Amino acid sequence: MTTKKFAQVGIDSPLRRLFDYRIPDAMPELKPGYRVIIPFGKRSLLGIVVKLIDTPSIDTSRLKIIQATLDDCAIFDAESFSLIRWAARYYQFPLGSALFSALPPALRKTKQDGDNDSIEFRWLATTNTSSEMLKRAPKQAAIYTWIKQHADGVTPKQLRDQFSSCSAIIKTLAQREMIQQVEIIQPTHVTQTPIANSLQLTEDQANVSQSILASLSQFTVHLLEGVTGSGKTEVYFSIITEVLKSAQAQVLILVPEIGLTPQLYSRLEKHFGITIGLLHSNITESQRKQTWLNISKGEIRIILGTRLAVFTPIPHLQLIVVDEEHDASLKQQEGFVYHARDVAIYRAKQLAIPIVLGSATPSFESIHNAKLEKFQHLQLNKRAHSDLMPKIQFADMRTERAGTILSSPLCKAMHSHLKEGKQVILFLNRRGYAPALLCHDCGWVAKCIRCDANMTYHSKTNKLICHHCDSRKHNPQQCPQCASNNLIMVGHGTQRIEEVLSEQFPDYSAIRLDRDITRRKGSLEKILDEIHQLKQQIIIGTQILSKGHDFPNVSLVGILDIDYGIHSSDFRALERSAQLLIQVAGRSGRRSIQGEVYVQTHTPDHPLLQTLLHEGYPAFATQALQSREEWKLPPFSHHIAIRARSQNSDDLFVFLEAVANTARQMLPAEISIQGPIIPSMEKKAGQFRAFILLVAAQRGLFSQSIDACLNQIETLPQTRKVRWSIDVDPIDNF
Ligand code: ADP
Ligand code: ZN
Ligand code: ZN
Repeated sequence: MTTKKFAQVGIDSPLRRLFDYRIPDAMPELKPGYRVIIPFGKRSLLGIVVKLIDTPSIDTSRLKIIQATLDDCAIFDAESFSLIRWAARYYQFPLGSALFSALPPALRKTKQDGDNDSIEFRWLATTNTSSEMLKRAPKQAAIYTWIKQHADGVTPKQLRDQFSSCSAIIKTLAQREMIQQVEIIQPTHVTQTPIANSLQLTEDQANVSQSILASLSQFTVHLLEGVTGSGKTEVYFSIITEVLKSAQAQVLILVPEIGLTPQLYSRLEKHFGITIGLLHSNITESQRKQTWLNISKGEIRIILGTRLAVFTPIPHLQLIVVDEEHDASLKQQEGFVYHARDVAIYRAKQLAIPIVLGSATPSFESIHNAKLEKFQHLQLNKRAHSDLMPKIQFADMRTERAGTILSSPLCKAMHSHLKEGKQVILFLNRRGYAPALLCHDCGWVAKCIRCDANMTYHSKTNKLICHHCDSRKHNPQQCPQCASNNLIMVGHGTQRIEEVLSEQFPDYSAIRLDRDITRRKGSLEKILDEIHQLKQQIIIGTQILSKGHDFPNVSLVGILDIDYGIHSSDFRALERSAQLLIQVAGRSGRRSIQGEVYVQTHTPDHPLLQTLLHEGYPAFATQALQSREEWKLPPFSHHIAIRARSQNSDDLFVFLEAVANTARQMLPAEISIQGPIIPSMEKKAGQFRAFILLVAAQRGLFSQSIDACLNQIETLPQTRKVRWSIDVDPIDNF
């Protein structure tokens, strides 16, 4: 019996508060982390118990009573629960909503919400019946006997394949209780023992691996900076092998986007020969729920997931690996805004376990922490297969004719590499055919009516598409402003490159690898297969190409346009461009061939680009960090952005001015309050956007007063006319 009579319950709502309920006397023991059904207004809602209390905050006579509990044990264990509590506080997000965001969607609903629809099940014959009972119903008998032959049960699909129309009979058999539905539980085995198919580690790999293993069972952050192809993954595997030697140990591997890198999953499976718990948003709800539950029961020992996996209850967690720790996809940008890498570091600290952050191009934050010796900095400077790193050169676009897409040195190199049977990658971070459509006579430009952005022309569909809100329009035959037919395409995207190649390199087949293509299910795998089987000689791709793919036969990479990132107003753009450049360059010469890379630019003399080229990423990062320090930019200061959007620009600015005033009154004077700042794209998907930036030299300055300040902002009457959100440690300037 619960001794406490009241519970604080969190619900999935933007309100920054919890709600008190009475626990009925007859209810079995409740604990924090149980899901309960509560009356809320006129509805019943699912809530999660946060705390049991003696004295509720409102008059007990007005208190409502919990209707039911869904769980017989807490859905979050104490450790994951306190992790989410911490993250909700740190990222200033309502605890109730944070708890719900951390749950797989299938567990966020009550049964009445239709949870059953999404459950995958099998039909199983009940044990003490026999087909004797069906003597006079031969069809029923046939189906029943067939089901009974399958001890593990059969899925509705298998049934349909075997007996074309059988739903009425199945219903009858179920009514007669001769067959029953069972939910499919992915088979897992508590005692799965990994098999280690380890490669012989190189000396460098072995050294790095040893330093990490020296700190098992204590909290250390290892920043593993290894050039592309240096075998970081093999290092992870060797550490994981050691960790899994202790009986129940579990390991969490976080990656930016699994969908784009199916290889890691299959490599893990092949290497360890045990079930890998996959957690990301692109699997069915019931699969995700089942995997989540199996992990939380300790039955799955290796967990591979995207950012959302960081909150999963993992009772015997002993190691965390964050691969490609610099990747912006590790940061959740909508709703519960958190950075999975930083949450993972906190989690490792609470558990006193090691965490490995791996990247060829670590984030400036992590490099800074390594310089401060908060992180242990480990380096792999050589590739596992050879000593050859790709040779990077600039192609100076100023010496080419205006509008040139493929520079002459790049074309020359392409011919020679292709002739030798090698493959070539052309990288351009712009999908579509042309990023702008312009009227030559009056200067009209096709703009999105919902965004401050040009529409991109897509030749495959002959449509104009906005890449920011996905609005689509037919391609106009003439200028809507002056009726001229003189419409011209400005600039180029991946589709145009495809066209250029078919003119300039007609003897070689080329394939595009961008989101327009990979959106279709299964097509990414198909394209990757074709590339591996050398059916395609030239690969044109967007940043999907930077995501750790291993193409052994690629020896040349052309980066078609790096200038965008250099001239951007976002102070992080240069860091991102450099990371992208090095990652894409790293796709070349992965085996014992010398890779070559051409970077096309109009500013080859840019001092930081020169450093990157001649001295490498670490030197570039050191130099760029010095200028961050001079300008007191992160990681040398700490930011909180209060963002807002509204269809009405006046409402937006009235709100943000009120926010700034409140902040000025309530926050210490050392915190500088900047804005409203208007992002380069002020209007997006029909909404005006802007933000207030709070800047503090030390993070600690926020801790005293930020809660009260945000609670005050929540009560501002102007909030009603906008949507607003808080972004702690923002990584984007919008
Ligand atoms: P990274 O993750 O650093 O990019 P990978 O772990 O994917 O590198 O390794 C790159 C390639 O080198 C892979 O094909 C991998 O199988 C191979 N490799 C890594 N380590 C070794 C090793 N010790 N011996 C032989 N091959 C290795
Ligand atoms: Zn015109
Ligand atoms: Zn748009």
